[in-house]
Amino acid sequence: MIHLDVENLSIHYGAICAIRQVSFSIKRGHIVTLIGSNGAGKTSILRALSGLIQPSAGKVVFDGKPILGLKTHQIARIGMSHVPEGRGIFLNLTVADNLELGTWSNRRKGLFTEDQQRILALFPRLKERFSQNAGTLSGGEQQMLAMARALMAYPDILLLDEPSLGLAPQMIAKIFRIIQQLNAEHGVTILLVEQNALQALRIAHRGIVLETGSIVAEAPASELLASDLLRQSYLGSS
Ligand code: ATP
Repeated sequence: MIHLDVENLSIHYGAICAIRQVSFSIKRGHIVTLIGSNGAGKTSILRALSGLIQPSAGKVVFDGKPILGLKTHQIARIGMSHVPEGRGIFLNLTVADNLELGTWSNRRKGLFTEDQQRILALFPRLKERFSQNAGTLSGGEQQMLAMARALMAYPDILLLDEPSLGLAPQMIAKIFRIIQQLNAEHGVTILLVEQNALQALRIAHRGIVLETGSIVAEAPASELLASDLLRQSYLGSS
């Protein structure tokens, strides 16, 4: 069953065309990774899906409802959470306060403590640092907090923008394991934007390769991992 359907999406910044007639769909319960080099347009797509920017053309249907034109908070309320590049957490607030802010669009009002416990079980490191200011957390812990905060809204679909950015290899592995767990054990559909294409494809069901605003490949992740051309262009030698 299709969870998110994107049809002929185009995004312009003034005269610059960042995304040109991009179409793809995501099945419920899948992890789909959007890969591509710097400036390919990955972040722009996520920002358009969550209502942060208005595309110049196209149609986006989420859970059977057209969502283009809706405000970010309305989109969040119907079950889409976005963890932006750079994480977007409040550095001068505590872990606890950041989590509470994540509930503003919670569709399960009154279940704050239960949701918080459920989420802290996924991120034991945050539980230990509950009263600490977010600005004093390590980069990996901040990424965990950003994801935990998004999960407080009880999303059906999570848009993750470069969660591995700036993290040490061990922390990257941990973040990727959590993404997989969210999907496998909690049924969250995930659209994952990553520079780290190899690791992203290893946990994804499908991959989409974007090049200067257009899709150049879209296939099961295992096929993309096996493709020579793709390995040379995007996956490095590993
Ligand atoms: P990266 O991996 O480097 O984050 P990306 O694939 O996420 O790149 P985008 O950030 O979506 O790419 O940018 C796509 C294109 O749109 C780039 O050429 C960028 O310079 C341009 N762009 C993005 N935001 C704006 C903006 N607010 N105003 C003008 N141009 C923009």
